[in-house]
Amino acid sequence: MIKIKNLKKSFGELEVLKDMNVEVKPQEVVCVIGPSGSGKSTFLRCINRLEEPTGGSIYIEGNDITDPGNNINEMRKNLGMVFQQFNLFPHMTVLQNITTAPKRLNGKSQAEADKLGKQLLEKVGLADKADVYPDNLSGGQKQRAAIARALAMEPSIMLFDEPTSALDPEMVGDVLEVMKSLAKEGMTMIIVTHEMGFAREVADRVIFMDGGYIVEEGNPQDLFDNPQEKRTQDFLSKVL
Ligand code: ADP
Ligand code: MG
Repeated sequence: MIKIKNLKKSFGELEVLKDMNVEVKPQEVVCVIGPSGSGKSTFLRCINRLEEPTGGSIYIEGNDITDPGNNINEMRKNLGMVFQQFNLFPHMTVLQNITTAPKRLNGKSQAEADKLGKQLLEKVGLADKADVYPDNLSGGQKQRAAIARALAMEPSIMLFDEPTSALDPEMVGDVLEVMKSLAKEGMTMIIVTHEMGFAREVADRVIFMDGGYIVEEGNPQDLFDNPQEKRTQDFLSKVL
């Protein structure tokens, strides 16, 4: 589904991603953990080319998204992205936030987009918020609306960058529940998270990144209970 080979990314002199090699299978849930500044966001942002990689290749369902001959906008439709800071459009209602991309980019009629939008709001537990503006939602509701908006493009892969980090603690559970249900439905996902309990329960594989490298990866039991690398042990001893 995703194959990343020798991915490198520098900002000027600063080498942020040094040599990342990752494969993700269909329906796999991969959680990425690691200290602040280790390159987790940059890694996700390279996958949908919000950042331009400095080197290496990224294949999404067989297509190299770093190949200038490929249409990045077409390939991006396959990748839903959810950010820490929601990024909802403040001047649109929740339903309009969700329907605008499928109408403009996926050729859906207003009626089709509205129907899909309402189904997605139901799915994320916001059926009664269709006509509300984002300012009138709690943080957790905003994030669930943002997830519905990403799903509206019917992507085959979802990328999450610390989706619960900006939320008050009591809001975190509802957002994680939505992500858990997506995992159960077989969505392929890469999730950068500090929620170790969630990673342990939901991830098929956990990747520990530090200093622009993958230091260690494995199934959650092995990685959390029996980390092999000292850097992983040190990190986990601080966050668990
Ligand atoms: P993480 O998400 O793991 O906290 P990031 O990927 O956000 O880490 O950042 C990794 C490093 O890259 C940090 O040192 C950060 O300051 C730097 N960085 C990220 N984005 C940019 C940018 N657009 N320009 C310059 N430096 C950046
Ligand atoms: Mg980050």
